[in-house]
Amino acid sequence: MRSAFDLTFDELVALRPPNDARYLYRKLFNFSDWAEGRPVVGKESTVFLSEHFDFALPEITEVRRSEDGSSKLLLRLADGNVIEAVHMPRAVKNPRVTLCLSSQVGCAMGCTFCHTATMGLVRNLTASEIVGQVLAILRALGPIDSGRVTLVFMGMGEPLHNVEAVLRAVAIMSEEAGLRISPQRITVSTSGLVPGIERMASAPVRPCLAISVNATTDEARARTMPVAKKYSLQDLTTAVKRLTLRPHEKVTFEYVLLRGENDTVEDAERLAEIVRPFRHNLNVIPYNVYEGALFAAPEEDALQLFVKRLQDRGCLVTVRRSRGRDVAAACGQLVQEATVRAPRRGLRNLSA
Ligand code: SF4
Repeated sequence: MRSAFDLTFDELVALRPPNDARYLYRKLFNFSDWAEGRPVVGKESTVFLSEHFDFALPEITEVRRSEDGSSKLLLRLADGNVIEAVHMPRAVKNPRVTLCLSSQVGCAMGCTFCHTATMGLVRNLTASEIVGQVLAILRALGPIDSGRVTLVFMGMGEPLHNVEAVLRAVAIMSEEAGLRISPQRITVSTSGLVPGIERMASAPVRPCLAISVNATTDEARARTMPVAKKYSLQDLTTAVKRLTLRPHEKVTFEYVLLRGENDTVEDAERLAEIVRPFRHNLNVIPYNVYEGALFAAPEEDALQLFVKRLQDRGCLVTVRRSRGRDVAAACGQLVQEATVRAPRRGLRNLSA
């Protein structure tokens, strides 16, 4: 049976009169009002929904709370595969929560600094599994008000390697009649799949874009990110330039700083050249070391010096210290632990 969370508002309107559809769609995503895991609606609507749709969500099997307030969640899908997500509250006056989401079980991209890469690709998530991931987390940990939620596709997987499901999930989650999470509060982070960026550019509901740069020449990039053998930095920046940005929208560039690999003066100069043509945020992320990691974290002094060089060259830099380090929820540390594993699939399986 089809998942109710795979449904756009227009698709429901095709099945029900508009007013009824609006009421049902609102109830469908008003998760604080559900009873026994499903929306509470009138008798006739209950019969209609039960005949057509399934309401199962991914099951949260574990919540690991970090000292910094974030939580890493393990979610089991219907086929037994496990994905991970991170819930990150921000303690500010008007509290907001960022959810870091998975788009695939594992990942095919093979970045050498990333723990998820060691799994290979098991499978893509469906749009309803992505939406279900968000609903399951918000039901468990809040907030009830989805207007206070920001979503980032920076968990397991390369979202643009599963671009159609991700864009469909974004469209469903931003429906006015449903969750109302604006696409301007949803960011998709890519390792540099150019056809996926081009596809995103033409999407009627387009999320924001983040690019994982992580090295400043094609040769160096190809050493840590095999995708760079297929798409050069020039290809990548050309595709980003074709994106029509909304007023105030910025492109996010991410740079994981690896000691002795990508942290030279020349790297800072070249990185500034790459990002400066764009209205940008540049996130420099000190590497999170995991057991068996091939790289080391930068020294604090080297990190600060690298950042200053970028700032001196006109870049808008934020040092992003990953949250949830003590529960292995930090960037590049999400890896399936309780798992149904498929044979590892590598880059040759890339359809993009
Ligand atoms: S860094 Fe991202 S794209 Fe690269 S292997 Fe890890 S999850 Fe995949």
